[in-house]
Amino acid sequence: MPDPSDIIAANLSRVKVRIAGACRRSGRDPAGVELIAVSKTIPADALREAVEAGHALFGESRLQEAEPKIALLPGSLRWHFIGRVQRNKVRRMLPMFEAIHGVDSLRLAEYLNGVAAELGLFPKIFLQVNIGGEQTKGGFEPEEIMREAGEILALPRLEVMGLMCIPPAGRVAEDARPWFAALRGLRDDLEKKYSTPLPSLSMGMSGDFEVAVEEGATHVRVGSSIFGARAYRVDGELG
Ligand SMILES: *Cc1c(COP(=O)(O)O)cnc(C)c1O
Repeated sequence: MPDPSDIIAANLSRVKVRIAGACRRSGRDPAGVELIAVSKTIPADALREAVEAGHALFGESRLQEAEPKIALLPGSLRWHFIGRVQRNKVRRMLPMFEAIHGVDSLRLAEYLNGVAAELGLFPKIFLQVNIGGEQTKGGFEPEEIMREAGEILALPRLEVMGLMCIPPAGRVAEDARPWFAALRGLRDDLEKKYSTPLPSLSMGMSGDFEVAVEEGATHVRVGSSIFGARAYRVDGELG
């Protein structure tokens, strides 16, 4: 039986090869795509295998799970928060994470801005968009973000990187393409309306990251293709 560390290292390199292929097909530079290894539910020892294989950027969705893992692993790693942001955890969260992907309301952005000011930080954020208009998913509605982005962009402590989405579940990867294209289009509209660069698009997971890269993703969030299947379903509302 192969050593589990070989499996994680092999999975990582396969995912990177697939990202490079998607870049080639769409005429993009692979350096413009960051691979976030989504390590929620995965123990620190398995993350260490990824670190030994040269990976340094991880995504977590629950603070109470991430805190002890981050403490066990090298301080040189970078962490992105990809789950639902709970206000009572923001003060602990901000110093640990390089970026917060799930900012889904003006009120939350204002709150993050206030805490960041108190802590002397300038966090990077992604605005989450409910691109499929689904009842069960969080995020800004497209019209809402067009209206409110100006107020968010004016918050002095937040560095707004761009947009993030979790598209409606599809049968095949191609089903996600129109949603990814829609997120990119919305980003383009926001850049024009507010005359501000919003360079980043956080989109694409294990089932559809190549399509996301072809449609302009700068951050793909890939979990099970690297670490193997998790015990529960992913719907973006699991925190
Ligand atoms: C769990 C999760 C992922 C990774 O999902 P996989 O299908 O395992 O790649 C990506 N983004 C978010 C927001 C998640 O919660």
